[in-house]
Amino acid sequence: MKEEKLKIALQKAGRLSEDSVGLLKKCGISFNDGFGKLKTEAVNFPLEIFFLRDDDIPEYVADGVADLGIVGENVVAEACKQVEIIEKLGFARCRLSIAVPKGFHYESIKSLSGLRIATAYPKVLSDFLKRKGVEAEVHVISGSVEIAPSIGLADAICDLVSSGSTLFTNGLREVETVMHSEAVLIAHRNLKDLQKQILEKLLFRIRAVKSASENKYILLNVPNDRIERICRLLPGMKSPTVMPLAESGWSSVHSVIHKDDFWEIVEKLKQEGAQGILVISIDQMVR
Ligand code: ATP
Ligand code: ZN
Repeated sequence: MKEEKLKIALQKAGRLSEDSVGLLKKCGISFNDGFGKLKTEAVNFPLEIFFLRDDDIPEYVADGVADLGIVGENVVAEACKQVEIIEKLGFARCRLSIAVPKGFHYESIKSLSGLRIATAYPKVLSDFLKRKGVEAEVHVISGSVEIAPSIGLADAICDLVSSGSTLFTNGLREVETVMHSEAVLIAHRNLKDLQKQILEKLLFRIRAVKSASENKYILLNVPNDRIERICRLLPGMKSPTVMPLAESGWSSVHSVIHKDDFWEIVEKLKQEGAQGILVISIDQMVR
């Protein structure tokens, strides 16, 4: 019997490529992703990998040409294909926003009425405008949307933004957020049971990598009379580990903290008398 495999589609070249490949590799999946390859096979996991244009990925997954895909939520929303969003992946975070020229007198969303808005995301934008009860003209262009106003092609734009520096350099000001987006794992709607089992295995690893990247391992030295107060600051996965140091009266405390809480917790730990604080990245984390 032929061994069951899953086919996953990744972006061939672009913002998602490196992190998508990196994620699979952190999941312990080895494959050759040599430059220009269109297709490759994992050597230690039942996975075939296709490298495609990201805009085509939802369609391939909907049709079952690929079983899984990694794409931006914005692309999934625009493609409007029947695929299942399985997991948010935490990278390629951005937002789809409407921006107007700096000098434009913008008061509220109603200010967009009657304007020509250039975008590569006509479906998502049109749905948004309809929801808000605004009638505007949606102009579809596929690239360099941000220069549309300065060349007289449009009055406003709707494009992906992360830092906003591209908008700024082009004399534009962000006025409305249409949607937030990040990379997601999508799947074909009717996977066979065996394929679902492989997906579960993959998902287990992806979640371990994701929670690892969201957390840090922290070690610190603590005077024994402060252990209790310090442990209250460090929830850990269950509770912190406390081990005696060779020097009497001191202990080493180990724990896991969320990366977003890191600086705040470190400040408090210092105030409580902690010393020699080490913070270490985690590769995988299984709760
Ligand atoms: P092409 O399809 O021609 O390869 P693209 O614009 O679709 O171009 P990328 O620029 O690589 O491809 O973007 C891929 C995805 O990365 C986007 O769909 C979006 O989800 C995400 N992304 C994250 N940050 C940004 C950003 N600042 N600008 C554009 N996309 C971003
Ligand atoms: Zn694209």
